[in-house]
Amino acid sequence: MLGVGCSLVLAVPGQAQSKPAADLIITNAKIWTVDPSLPTAQAVAVLGDRIVAVGSDTDVGAWRGPRTHVIDARGKLLLPGFNDAHVHFVSGGRQLDAIQLNDAVTPQEFARRIGERAKVTPKGEWILGGNWDETKWNPSNLPTKELIDALTPDTPVFVSRYDGHMGLANSVALRLAGITASTPDPAGGAIVRDSQGNPTGALKDAATDYIDKVVPPLTHEQRLRIVKRALAYAASVGVTSAQHMVASYEDIGVYAELLQRGELTTRIYAAPSITHVDDLAKMGVGHAFGGPYLRIGALKAFADGSLGSGTAYFYEPFLNQGNNRGLLSDEMHPISLMRDRYLKADAAGLQLCTHAIGDEGISTILDLYAEVIKAHGESDRRLRIEHAQHMAAKDFERFRKLHVIASVQPYHAIDDGRFAESHIGHDRASRTYAFRTFLDHGVRLAFGTDWEVAPLDPLLTVYAAVTRATLDGKNPKGWFPEQKLTVAEAIEAYTMGSAYAEFQEKEKGSITPGKLADMVLLSEDIFSIAPERIRDVRVLKTFVGGGLIFDLRNIN
Ligand SMILES: [Zn+2]
Repeated sequence: MLGVGCSLVLAVPGQAQSKPAADLIITNAKIWTVDPSLPTAQAVAVLGDRIVAVGSDTDVGAWRGPRTHVIDARGKLLLPGFNDAHVHFVSGGRQLDAIQLNDAVTPQEFARRIGERAKVTPKGEWILGGNWDETKWNPSNLPTKELIDALTPDTPVFVSRYDGHMGLANSVALRLAGITASTPDPAGGAIVRDSQGNPTGALKDAATDYIDKVVPPLTHEQRLRIVKRALAYAASVGVTSAQHMVASYEDIGVYAELLQRGELTTRIYAAPSITHVDDLAKMGVGHAFGGPYLRIGALKAFADGSLGSGTAYFYEPFLNQGNNRGLLSDEMHPISLMRDRYLKADAAGLQLCTHAIGDEGISTILDLYAEVIKAHGESDRRLRIEHAQHMAAKDFERFRKLHVIASVQPYHAIDDGRFAESHIGHDRASRTYAFRTFLDHGVRLAFGTDWEVAPLDPLLTVYAAVTRATLDGKNPKGWFPEQKLTVAEAIEAYTMGSAYAEFQEKEKGSITPGKLADMVLLSEDIFSIAPERIRDVRVLKTFVGGGLIFDLRNIN
């Protein structure tokens, strides 16, 4: 063995110095690189945490040394790791152990599950989460506190609607929060009331702040446990980078601690709320500040609410909801408040990521972004609109002109597609999650899930973008099928697109020599199977920085 080692390090006169051996070689793979200079390959070599060679088995075999770990991929598909451009990582992790209400298809089942959970909830602890979806019920009325009060006499309950824009409180929670018939609706929110004006327990958008103020915060130990759970889960579904929207300082502290311990296995880009703009501006860190595992320097803002809650902000009213055109968020009251924060953030070199769903909400943010560019001049800002869900026809071109990234979540399209037309009609629905139209206009897409609002599974997201088959099974050929993407386009948005959205396209997003060795090996070739089967494909192995952080063989 010594001889082999020597031959590798001794330079032969007249030849280039021999290269060091790779730590890892994945051979006999079907590699889709997302690198147009070499779209497909058989093998990849990794040295340290970087890719050093991509090519045929023979080419890459030259990197093999005595201590190289070689993995035979047996012809399976190897992709760059998925980069989820929009997650709520801690809420997602928390949800893994929380009550599940999303598949409760009757109000009775909804109530039963809450009652069961109350029996095992320690005194003083809240029941939170749930992601209920009353559109699955018949009739689809909002739940009220009366459904659950008798089952939860001592336990405060605040269970969220799946879109995160509404929640249901029981009487204990309303009492703790001091919400009564005389409590006013806050700006950017609503307390749902019965015919006598009494709160029903349902709280929309900013009204949920009343509850948030009285829910005890997570302890550090709880947060650590939740993040570790989320990291393991992310690895199991092939997510190697996650862009955490509305990260708290405590969340960032936990990431930093895990990074120090060498336990941070998903690369994190954390975007605190724009309400913290002064803190970040004071620190003097710009966009994408940090290292390969943890970066900060983006801010997350809210323009409006959601389609399902009737709070996305539109030019024209929702159908069958009187004059309701939705709500601008509390951060937009007045709009100059948001403009001032944007200008301050931009002057400090911070990146802006703004949630905007309704057409007028999106348009208003584009106006503000244009003002920022006018005030401070052109530069490489990578302004983002999160969701970019219901577009006014005039605004696709503005996205391109202002170089705004559409950070979108295809799963929402097959979910909201169940009811979008009944809320906003056919014409507006035709510009809902209009991925093809964005690409046709030269707009960059970044893909994500909005976990915990939707499942973190990237293959479900690719399936959604490629099929647009709504969850109710009513559109097997695709809902607005002209907006479908190809598998290659979906993967590109999920890898290079998301990397670009966090200023990291030179570091990751493709299987290219020099880049971080973040890769996933899949159970099937999603390019050749029937698109409707993509959601059933499993991740076999997940690599981050060349390290194997998930291996399906070690499960069960
Ligand atoms: Zn979100």
